[in-house]
Amino acid sequence: MGVNWVSAWLIKTPAGPVLIDTVHEPFVDQLIANIKACGVNPADLKMVFVTHGHFDHCGGMKRLKEIAPKARFVMTKRGWDEANVDAKRTHQGGRNSFTMIPQDLVAKDGDTFTFGNFVMTVLETPGHTWGTASYVYPVRDGNKTYRAITVGGLGLNAITGPDQVGAYIDTVKRIRRMVQDPVNPISVHLSAHPFSNGLMEKRFLLPHTDRSTPHPLVAPQAFVKELDVMESNAMKRLAIEKARKA
Ligand SMILES: [Zn+2]
Repeated sequence: MGVNWVSAWLIKTPAGPVLIDTVHEPFVDQLIANIKACGVNPADLKMVFVTHGHFDHCGGMKRLKEIAPKARFVMTKRGWDEANVDAKRTHQGGRNSFTMIPQDLVAKDGDTFTFGNFVMTVLETPGHTWGTASYVYPVRDGNKTYRAITVGGLGLNAITGPDQVGAYIDTVKRIRRMVQDPVNPISVHLSAHPFSNGLMEKRFLLPHTDRSTPHPLVAPQAFVKELDVMESNAMKRLAIEKARKA
């Protein structure tokens, strides 16, 4: 539902629509129009899962709450705190001004939210920020079900020191183990930043009608490569941060 820079993912669960992330101004009108274009009334949103407290992921929360007053909003405790700090920063002359909503639901690692037979699982994945969450959920192509993830933060742009880079590396390793899990692997990465893994190009391959071929978004090997690049960039950054601290 989002734009090339930042995503929002709409999921039609059996118990109503839920959303991951909210984009930011001036794109919230576009988000709302995109939700409607999928045949969903934004007022019917049941829950909005937010990955982390940066303006580009939570900048649309306030307007969505106005449109969907019954919707619940989910972040980690630290995510809520970071969002309040970021909103305050933008009010002190920072760019991309946004206003936070009051704290709503607080999610912890391993928490699940159930909507009929659809289950959303929360992972606390510190690294991009300390409070970043990722979300794991089932997706369907025809009668096949896959496990998807929206990784909450990809960049090393908000790093405050070597400890945080260490947490980032641990998070990347944890997600890679889940992609390589022999029993119930994650094989779809619905990215929080679509430009980062070619999603804007892949959308021209949709809808996927020839089910004898793999779905273009079911790409575990490409996802492992993404994670490898993230880890090697983080290793370089770790050396820089350690040298800075020394
Ligand atoms: Zn961010």
